[in-house]
Amino acid sequence: MKTIFEKSNGVCGIELSDSSDINVLENIIPASLLRKDSIGLPMLSELEVMRHYKELSDRNFCIEKGFYPLGSCTMKYNPKVNELLASLEGFCNLHPLQSDEDSQGALELMFNLQEALKKITGMDAVTLQPAAGAHGELTGMMTIKKYFEVKGEINRKKVIVPDSAHGTNPASAKMCGFDIVEVKSNERGQVDIDALKELLDKDVAAIMMTNPNTLGIFEEKVLEISELMHNNGSLLYYDGANFNAIMGWTNPRLMGFDVVHLNLHKTFATPHGGGGPGAGPVCVTEKLKDFLPVPVIEYDGNKYKRNYDLPHTIGKVRSFYGNFGVLVRAYAYILMMGNNLKLASADAVLNANYIKEKLKGVYELPYDEPCMHEFVLSGEKQHEQGVSTLGIAKRLMDSNYHPPTVYFPLIVHEAIMIEPTESESKEVLDGFISTMLKIAEEIRTNPEEVLKSPQKTPIKKVDETLAARQPDLTFKE
Ligand SMILES: *Cc1c(COP(=O)(O)O)cnc(C)c1O
Repeated sequence: MKTIFEKSNGVCGIELSDSSDINVLENIIPASLLRKDSIGLPMLSELEVMRHYKELSDRNFCIEKGFYPLGSCTMKYNPKVNELLASLEGFCNLHPLQSDEDSQGALELMFNLQEALKKITGMDAVTLQPAAGAHGELTGMMTIKKYFEVKGEINRKKVIVPDSAHGTNPASAKMCGFDIVEVKSNERGQVDIDALKELLDKDVAAIMMTNPNTLGIFEEKVLEISELMHNNGSLLYYDGANFNAIMGWTNPRLMGFDVVHLNLHKTFATPHGGGGPGAGPVCVTEKLKDFLPVPVIEYDGNKYKRNYDLPHTIGKVRSFYGNFGVLVRAYAYILMMGNNLKLASADAVLNANYIKEKLKGVYELPYDEPCMHEFVLSGEKQHEQGVSTLGIAKRLMDSNYHPPTVYFPLIVHEAIMIEPTESESKEVLDGFISTMLKIAEEIRTNPEEVLKSPQKTPIKKVDETLAARQPDLTFKE
């Protein structure tokens, strides 16, 4: 009736000759471990299960459902054909331990993507391994650290970060053991050059910059900054999260940067709801090439191969070769767009400027400059009238808009950071503008009403403090 077997490779099991004879298990599994009661799984039909999950997914807000102007996140439309390509059997059933010989197609795709990213950024070498932008920052800063170690300049312990920077920048540099020095922004929302000069000494390893920066403003003095840093023997790190503003118009190499990360899940149209998976490739100039993580993908004119033999590599930063499915989607997007990548950036910048011009005046615009792909308003005036930026964000949800990024960057009070991307039509932008104007008017005349939002979301108004202090993390009572 039963056989307990052990194979020579150590695999053990029970073979039931009669699968209905469950009692046999009782002879083998200790009684104390056997379940006494049913586990209470609902007995449902396929249709009922389907409706349950559809209902859950309907509660989610996504780009397919409405406008998603989440500043700094580049929530552009992700073409569905990319999903089809990423699910091709040859891509998704390939085992990462298969030989180079067996993996030529995947290696070719990675190699071609590396080449495309080199061209787009102007850099000389690429690693596709990091799994997100912040992971790219960590990887990039590790290469910078190793570069100075090999040069014998271990005194270079400081990394300069502008006060407008994304929080991951100082965090990544700190995780590499650097000390963070903040440089302030001037009245035009750009790095204050005089303040920067005062911070420079021989202990400075690098500056981390985002350009356009998180205010959506292009750093006009970037070449001067690059010269200052390089004359000081320091390097420049480019946070490429805002790359959607500049594709094909300029690149970090021309701006004088040494290391760049890209967020494929922002700029190159791969999904990034719910935290991933993403991809944050790092691109570097020739002098940092030997420090990249291994393997890098190479082509000898005949075959593609994984090269593990980089003289000063920082080692591995991730298992295997990165989030391969994301790389497939990004490569498909790049091929599909070709030279139109440049138009995507142009439209993203145009859309942001259009909304900015329509909303400024009604909402405060702290840095009244032409913006790039995004801009930052302040809800200070509305706050004084009784509704904070958080209230505005919640009101927008009742009109089927995902709220913009709020309270970031930190240097703007009551910040509202809007990034429309190139995906949207003028009708959508006009609808959003008129809703924002309507909300400002409601706040002026009847702030109490605005404070009742959101009313139409699956979860209505919550007590923020209670939710933070006593989070309800179970799905049942
Ligand atoms: C999104 C973002 C990051 C971090 O990227 P992740 O992929 O979310 O880790 C870093 N800097 C800026 C400016 C960003 O917008």
